[in-house]
Amino acid sequence: MAGIQSVGVVGAGTMGSGIAHVFARAGVRVLLCDVEQRLLDRALAQIRTNLGREAAKGKLAASEIDPALARITPIVDREALSAADFVVEAATERLDVKSELFRALDRILPGTAVLASNTSSISITKLAAQTHRPEQVIGMHFFNPVPVMALVEIVRGLATSDATFALVRDLAVKLGKTAVEVNDAPGFVSNRVLMPLINEAAFAVMEGVASAEAVDQVFKLGMNHPMGPLTLADFIGLDVCVDILRVLQEGYGDPKYRPCPLLLRMVDAGWLGRKSGRGFYVYEN
Ligand code: NAD
Repeated sequence: MAGIQSVGVVGAGTMGSGIAHVFARAGVRVLLCDVEQRLLDRALAQIRTNLGREAAKGKLAASEIDPALARITPIVDREALSAADFVVEAATERLDVKSELFRALDRILPGTAVLASNTSSISITKLAAQTHRPEQVIGMHFFNPVPVMALVEIVRGLATSDATFALVRDLAVKLGKTAVEVNDAPGFVSNRVLMPLINEAAFAVMEGVASAEAVDQVFKLGMNHPMGPLTLADFIGLDVCVDILRVLQEGYGDPKYRPCPLLLRMVDAGWLGRKSGRGFYVYEN
């Protein structure tokens, strides 16, 4: 794949396991790295389940499941990434975590390797500045669930070279994704546009303009969105939405991005959406 023999994926959570899945399915060897073996075991079990689902839907031959899984090598020791010529970082969305990782990966990886981040909101330019290879650092923003969603937002940092951009765009296409080029700015395009929509929907509910169900119906039936903004907010996680709104508020210095007080209260209550069993809706499982 575009001269890429071995890909490293750092962080084996929701996104990292999906990213490892799509690379392995495309025939690429993957080193999947996390801080504990139990997290890697959980990720591999999830990938097996998801590959099985794809096979059941006829998107993949059942005989391809085991070979795809065999392409993924779980690693706790990140020094093993010295064998990778391309790395996607999908670790926890914290600047301190990612900065430390970028410094370490810059030391560990071969000088020619490209280093991508799946961050939703952290500046690619800032992460690139942690390394001695800022022209080889880029954003490769996948969407959840990775095996299903067609888009990869490719984010060019201030120093990202044309060669790095072309390599990552070609990789995305070979994974069966559609690559869209954007420049580095808070929230990129996806979250800069989506989060104000979710926030405004929360304001409408808080002000009693309409119920959550009514707001979602308006977008599903009137705008043909597959799910309404508040259902989507529950899916993303209300805490994640608040964190991204704060990044937008700070990055643009514009009060229009201030998180809706209802969102803040729900996060305080632990109503984080689907993952906590309650957000704008209640989830039984
Ligand atoms: P997650 O919490 O499910 O997974 C993060 C994983 O990173 C955890 O398993 C954690 O143990 C691991 N990790 C933390 N520090 C590490 C380190 N130093 N080395 C190796 N592993 C480390 O989070 P997620 O939802 O998969 O998000 C990961 C990244 O993807 C974030 O940057 C997030 O903004 C971005 N993202 C998330 C979504 C989404 O819908 N969840 C969508 C697009 C992008």
